[in-house]
Amino acid sequence: MSVEPERIRALDGHQMISARQTVSTYAVMLDGGSLETMELTAAQARGFECLTCRAQHTATSGAFRSVGRIPSVGNVFQCLKCVGGAR
Ligand SMILES: [Zn+2]
Repeated sequence: MSVEPERIRALDGHQMISARQTVSTYAVMLDGGSLETMELTAAQARGFECLTCRAQHTATSGAFRSVGRIPSVGNVFQCLKCVGGAR
């Protein structure tokens, strides 16, 4: 099977891949009420990945909890493993 890398990048995964590689600084409003500045990938900032371990948040992985939100971006999530470990 030979697929050119350029073609793979042009497929549907393209946006997701770039979202996973773009790191920015976000001001995150945590559910506890505190405001924290975090360096996150766009995928983390939009709730596609766990805030801590970057596990993928998919439609079938129900085990994610919202832990806060980024104003004008969206909610951020942690997987249950990280939510439990953060105590
Ligand atoms: Zn996690």
